Amino acid sequence: MKMRTAGVLVLKTFLLVTFAAAPLTVAAARPPNIVIILADDLGYGDLGCYGHPTIRTPNLDRMAGEGMRFTDFYVAACVCTPSRAALLTGRLPIRTGMAGSEQHRVIYSKDTGGLPAEEITIAQALKAQGYATACVGKWHLAGETSDAWPTRRGFDQWFGLRWSNDMEPAGKIQKPGSMSLDPDPAWWSLTLMRNEKVLETNANPHTLTRRYTDEAVQFIQANKRKPFFLYFAHTYPHVPLFASEKFKGKSPRGLFGDVVAELDASVGQVLETLRKEKLTENTLVFFTSDNGPWLVKELAGGSAGPLREGKGSTWEGGMREPGIAWWPGKIKPGVTTHELACSMDLFNTSLQLAGAPVPTDRVLDGVDLSPILFGDGKGLRDAMFYYRGDELFAVRKGNFKMHLQTAPGYAGNRVQEKLEQHEPPLLFNLASDPGEKFDVAKEHPEVVADIQKVVAEHQTKLVAGKAQY
Ligand code: MG
Repeated sequence: MKMRTAGVLVLKTFLLVTFAAAPLTVAAARPPNIVIILADDLGYGDLGCYGHPTIRTPNLDRMAGEGMRFTDFYVAACVCTPSRAALLTGRLPIRTGMAGSEQHRVIYSKDTGGLPAEEITIAQALKAQGYATACVGKWHLAGETSDAWPTRRGFDQWFGLRWSNDMEPAGKIQKPGSMSLDPDPAWWSLTLMRNEKVLETNANPHTLTRRYTDEAVQFIQANKRKPFFLYFAHTYPHVPLFASEKFKGKSPRGLFGDVVAELDASVGQVLETLRKEKLTENTLVFFTSDNGPWLVKELAGGSAGPLREGKGSTWEGGMREPGIAWWPGKIKPGVTTHELACSMDLFNTSLQLAGAPVPTDRVLDGVDLSPILFGDGKGLRDAMFYYRGDELFAVRKGNFKMHLQTAPGYAGNRVQEKLEQHEPPLLFNLASDPGEKFDVAKEHPEVVADIQKVVAEHQTKLVAGKAQY
């Protein structure tokens, strides 16, 4: 009898252990999917959930309502190339040689450089963990003769453009001098890439967002049974602007509003695909933009809302962006956080979630955002460094931001950009003055001294990477 009882107990214990362990084993074997959706030149004030009065973004608003909205989310640079390099590597562009310079701020097609092979991208780190990886959209981390294409930097597949849409060789007709609203598409035929091959040399710019979205949806559906990383880097609302027929002429904000509404619908389609495929409980989606609005483009550019200046500038409007995190069941819904966070943190966060080893042989500038996303973590990030090209212009610590130099937004060929040195530095309290209007350096000499110490320490330790372009 005793033997029998013991036998049953052993069997029960075995069954319990086996069946209790089974779901854990499956969970451990299936780290979360990660989707990063990046808009291009979308400003802090361009979404409904960030206060735009007339641009309608119901899908992003819903994403924020179901997830977490950051009020103080930054990118690591105020123009495309360095910002993207930082997001994918978790490192300040000055360290990777991807910062550019005052004269040469982003990669152009004739450049030979690109994201260095020794850098580790999120895609490489996750691919090593068995993830399927895709880049859909704009790359802008390689010149034409460089080998730094997405497929050489950890992505299994790539569908999209090599650079910004205004940098495309424009077929036979010369580009107009200015980026007018709704330009003739004949000026802007685009070269669309599929992996390392030219797929089309005259892709229709009106259909780009729709085609990107179809590609992203197909990638998710094709990889729903294994972990995947999708880096979905939209071309718009970078100028020249094009919307598809379905969206054109609909927004009170004009073509810019139409284009943002189409991006919003694209986000909605990605989230809907995750719902349909029952992947929401195991997928982190993060939405942001690569830099602030291109204000000199006037109605074709976006809005930084209450923030000062835009793209190309180290004023808040150049580098503070919408940041929305979504993971139903894991991230508490409807939370607005004022914690300081940065696009480089997506590197550490993604690796941590994937169970990938975080590199220890290099300086990383990102932090793992999990304590903020999944709990009430605070104060993870001490300071924020604002570089313009390879020069440090400003530093934020707590609510205070100190400017060593300032410059207006990215003027392209239309306005001369005038740099100003500040000795003594300017100081703004971003909590009471997010628009950086009232210099309070004289009232807070101790804060200036404290941030100057942070600058000195940063600059003493900094090893700048070899310039890549
Ligand atoms: Mg951009």
